[in-house]
Amino acid sequence: MIQGKNFIGGEFVNTKGETFEKRNPASTDELLGVFPLSEQRDIERAVEAAGSAYPQWRALSRVRRGEYIDHLVQVLKREKESLSTLLSREQGKSITEARAEVTEGIHMLQYVFGTSRMPFGDVVSSEIAEKDSFMRRKPKGVIGVITPWNFPFAIPLWLIGPSLLEGNTVVFKPSRETPCVAQKLMEAVQEVGIPLGVINMLHGSGEKVGMPIVRHPKVVVLLFTGSAEVGQQIRKVSAELPDRMCACEMGGKNAIIVLDDADVELAVNASVISAFKTSGQRCTAASRLIVHTRVLKEFQKRFVETTKRIRIGDPLDPDNFTGPVINETQMNKILQYNELAKKEGVEVLLGGGRLKGPQYDKGYFLSPFVYRTKPNPKSVVLKEEVFGPHVAIIPVKDLEEAIAVHNDTDYGLVVSVITEDYRKAREIRERCEYGLGYMNLPTIGAEVHLPFGGAKKSGTGLPSASTLIDVVTHRTAWTVNHAREIKMAQGMGVKL
Ligand code: NAD
Repeated sequence: MIQGKNFIGGEFVNTKGETFEKRNPASTDELLGVFPLSEQRDIERAVEAAGSAYPQWRALSRVRRGEYIDHLVQVLKREKESLSTLLSREQGKSITEARAEVTEGIHMLQYVFGTSRMPFGDVVSSEIAEKDSFMRRKPKGVIGVITPWNFPFAIPLWLIGPSLLEGNTVVFKPSRETPCVAQKLMEAVQEVGIPLGVINMLHGSGEKVGMPIVRHPKVVVLLFTGSAEVGQQIRKVSAELPDRMCACEMGGKNAIIVLDDADVELAVNASVISAFKTSGQRCTAASRLIVHTRVLKEFQKRFVETTKRIRIGDPLDPDNFTGPVINETQMNKILQYNELAKKEGVEVLLGGGRLKGPQYDKGYFLSPFVYRTKPNPKSVVLKEEVFGPHVAIIPVKDLEEAIAVHNDTDYGLVVSVITEDYRKAREIRERCEYGLGYMNLPTIGAEVHLPFGGAKKSGTGLPSASTLIDVVTHRTAWTVNHAREIKMAQGMGVKL
């Protein structure tokens, strides 16, 4: 059992006041830890610690900062199996997915370390031969990092890694649903000896910890990943602050488009993986399968058959495809969306619902809910993110209708098209609204060296992963004159 503490100024600190429990969603008998519900004074201390650490941290060479990150990689690699097991017990995703998530977090740090000896600016031409101009990136200061529960290891590292390399310091608030992995991450930070105060972590709720970090005027950049509703609140508050940069990664209503020439087996496999891995609780999960009527019958039959076969159960059993959903509230929300779909008149193909039996009764295990429905611009279940094992098959008559149905949602995170026809794939690539696109692949499985971020309600147009550098640094111009006299651009005269 973990005795959770905040990590401020390089130390785990005892906090007086209220606490919260974290239990295993696969077996709620198992108490994983007790954690502090931080308060305003803890937030002040953490922001203060990050602010004090900033001048020395940014003064280090970028290569030296990269070496700290490399050291962190070594420690996390050593702890990979224990971290994966803890992640699986805390979040409920299958152990194989948990291992992949830990690998992904490590990949981000490796990528960041790899760039530490790469240029962090450009040499830029000038009209004047004797002028040398440069674009140089500078750090911004204290960065607030607020993360969700579905990727409690990878997402924090996606955001913290580039922030640190570029010379910023961090105040990190993990989700209240996944405090254990965050705690272990801070233990690794402490072991590595990253200078005190460079990373600080506060446990607690969104309202009492997240929002005060967002409102804090000394937090110059806010990196948020989570729901569109909270992201929108964060953007509004940030807009009131004069020097606040804010990048939000939010939800999705992602689709797989299965065209008339698709390899149906590949389409079915990609769809099952996209819809039900992590029990559908990925921002990149596909909840809409837009299928050409020519292949509909075969696709539907095989999709339903394959879905019936997936093994749901103890996430620590590597043979299980997926585990429980995160908590009771989320479970009830998903069940309500299933009911709403029925009210909207969909044709139910697999009825979903809570799984019963000795291996399920102590956890939040749901069976997949699969339905077929015509395109319907008024449907709520076709537009809102459900974030669970809930998926629609939507028949379409041609490519045009597929694109129109795809874009008929406020979200725009991921699309995948299953086709052998590169011309049709190009139409999807050009005309669908998304941030991550795939051909003949699932919608899940992003890699860290690509940009990651959605369009429309899914993002702020500032993708993270490899492209986060644009958010956590300020591009500055630096121009040097090598002539003895002043020569101006644009032909401006300087006769005095
Ligand atoms: P959430 O928005 O409820 O919470 C995310 C984080 O914000 C948590 O740490 C939470 O405590 C905090 N928070 C909540 N209310 C807040 C407030 N008022 N002010 C400041 N902080 C607040 O999201 P969640 O339920 O943890 O995660 C699921 C959501 O995250 C889904 O919508 C999913 O699509 C999205 N997500 C997006 C991405 C992406 O990269 N696009 C990745 C993973 C998850």
